[in-house]
Amino acid sequence: MPRRPNQTTPEKIRTQLVELLEHFEDQLKKGDLRKKVLSLVPAFHLLRDLGCSLMPKEEASAARDRILAYFRKYPLVVIHGDEFMVVSGIQDWPRRIRELRNEYGWSIASGVTVQEMVDEEEIEVKVIGGAKLKPEEYILLDKKQDREAALRWKIANDIRKKDGGVHAKVLAFLRSNIGRPVTGEELRYVSNDKSEWARRVRELRTEQGWPILTRNTGRPDLSIGSYLLEEDRQSPTHDRKIPDPVRRSALVRDKYTCQKCRWTYKQWNPSDPRHLELHHKEYHAKGGENKKENLITLCTVCHDDVHRNE
Ligand SMILES: [Zn+2]
Ligand SMILES: [Zn+2]
Repeated sequence: MPRRPNQTTPEKIRTQLVELLEHFEDQLKKGDLRKKVLSLVPAFHLLRDLGCSLMPKEEASAARDRILAYFRKYPLVVIHGDEFMVVSGIQDWPRRIRELRNEYGWSIASGVTVQEMVDEEEIEVKVIGGAKLKPEEYILLDKKQDREAALRWKIANDIRKKDGGVHAKVLAFLRSNIGRPVTGEELRYVSNDKSEWARRVRELRTEQGWPILTRNTGRPDLSIGSYLLEEDRQSPTHDRKIPDPVRRSALVRDKYTCQKCRWTYKQWNPSDPRHLELHHKEYHAKGGENKKENLITLCTVCHDDVHRNE
């Protein structure tokens, strides 16, 4: 039964609640169950009103607005679902969170998804304060709203329903968003919520050479929890299978800059699409090692040149 929160101040509600609970002492002693329950009902309503009243009405009047305002007050902070029960005053707060994410484009991730990204080292542990996240926890990963999210969720929904494994679905979704960041939540959804999704994304990068990057694996400008397929091409076979930590250290050493022409991703534009790859100076197949010392950062244009001139 939906009930509009009282218009009164938190302090007034608190006083009423305390009075009610004091009277409840009598009910407890008398012992009639029905009377106990009935006299507790208004206390439940008051407690809910109190939670709703904590945020000024001008700031957020509807339940969904209060949930959003609370998230925006604490970006990148792990928030327990019960807190949304308090500020929203409704039972169905999880649905409001889904709406904020899928229809309004707020990058809200669940504890499960973030933990899976942390396990694959796509997100640094320090971002979430070091503790293991639980399914009933949430984080707002980006302070900015992404207006294109609703469209992406529709695409994700179509791909999710198709046949095929997690690899195929994740790749199909990324290829329909070339050059545009997608979120871990979307990739997990496309994978039919299979927990292996984050590992599969990493395999697409390291085993199959797809330039799927996060801020930890080549694109420090991306927001936390975003993935970007930079271009619709796989790196040459001999330059695959580079472990992410090695990739990261080579890119950092080369300052995310092509070591031949000095191109960086900051210069990217649609008329000159390219991205950075790592090239083995001594080929992997010929015994060249997957070590930072044997790798060099090249833009795809220079990388193609190197291979053409062999
Ligand atoms: Zn170059
Ligand atoms: Zn190469």
